[in-house]
Amino acid sequence: MEKIKTLRGFRDISGEELDTFKRIEACARKYLKLLNFTEIELPILEKTELFVRSIGDTTDIVEKEMFTFTDIGGDSLTMRPEATAGMVRSYLQSGLYATQRVSKLFTLGPMFRHEKPQKGRFREFHQIDVEVFGIGDPLIDAELLWMIHMLLQELKVNTYDIEVNSVGCPECRESFRKVLVEYFETKKDMLCEDCVRRLERNPLRIFDCKNTQCIEVSTESPVLFEYLCEECTRHFDEFQQHVSSFGFSVRINKRLVRGLDYYTRTVFEVTSNDLGAQKAFIAGGRYDNLVEEMGGPKTPGTGFAIGVERLALITMSEKAVSTPTYFFAYLGERAKKYLIPFIKSFAGAGLSLVYSYDERSLKSQMRYADSLNADFVFILGDNEVERGIVLLRNMKTKIQYELLLDPSILPREAIKLSIE
Ligand SMILES: [Zn+2]
Ligand SMILES: [Zn+2]
Repeated sequence: MEKIKTLRGFRDISGEELDTFKRIEACARKYLKLLNFTEIELPILEKTELFVRSIGDTTDIVEKEMFTFTDIGGDSLTMRPEATAGMVRSYLQSGLYATQRVSKLFTLGPMFRHEKPQKGRFREFHQIDVEVFGIGDPLIDAELLWMIHMLLQELKVNTYDIEVNSVGCPECRESFRKVLVEYFETKKDMLCEDCVRRLERNPLRIFDCKNTQCIEVSTESPVLFEYLCEECTRHFDEFQQHVSSFGFSVRINKRLVRGLDYYTRTVFEVTSNDLGAQKAFIAGGRYDNLVEEMGGPKTPGTGFAIGVERLALITMSEKAVSTPTYFFAYLGERAKKYLIPFIKSFAGAGLSLVYSYDERSLKSQMRYADSLNADFVFILGDNEVERGIVLLRNMKTKIQYELLLDPSILPREAIKLSIE
């Protein structure tokens, strides 16, 4: 029979990579708790409308990348492509906006985008998503970046850049839009079909186009940064002052735009050259109008998402401080009676004990112990039971010890010998 495999862009994660994931998550949790964030779990499936309204109907994500389907009841549903939309929905649905002046929330979990799979990019991928509602002050934006900086230091990610930009507010964007349309009109014949359409509906989205010719046209266009209104300029200046007070460095990239409509003012990406062409692994920014656009009261918001797969690629793998592995090789009925006492007493002492479940020859058990890289092997046969002892062989030095056959004291004896 033909074997069933995972879907394209979906995969099983295990071993060292999963260990790194868990380490990244634990480290992120530590700093988030330190800064008073609350963890929340959100559904993976939401109404399609939630993403269309928040992310924007002319974005690549909504136009091309969502896993959307009609369920048995006839509703259009979507597997979340990102977490901010669901966070805002939850924030409004739970009424947090009415009870908390400031809400700091984070969530961990899988997201889904129908993209072409490539290095570190999958259709099911994992994010750590961090959102703050209720703070308009740029101090919080600088503080979030500082937290990212500390997290990356602790994970020993050596080479990364924090790129920042301001995408302004609707007011400065409106005046810039005219400048931009004027520019792209002159280059219309070089733009792809999608971008010609975007030119009318949402010219800022042309900057996200992955078409090489569109990228070329975009790199010479005017930038919004030069058209920021007075308030947005002041906000960005203050943000930069806070960054320098925290004492880490950022680089202004005036061409940085995020592929989602809801961003306002400060946006950022953390990039690494070790990641190839698409080098961002953390991205975020401010979204001061999103809560209102989703039906809530006017509430400023800011946040970011960490791409766990991509961060894992550049996180130094760290061998866990290894405790020795013990193997219990037994031969004969009388010896086997000691198996459960061994299991219980090693687990009780927090030591890893491996053994074979079915009775096999001593030779085969020793081979098994070898294949598992066991550091020590207990050997127990009729002869040893008779004498009230058990052999303990150090697999590296090949030295063999005789110990008293008393499972309750053996873990302690074994540790003593492994330290020697
Ligand atoms: Zn503005
Ligand atoms: Zn294009």
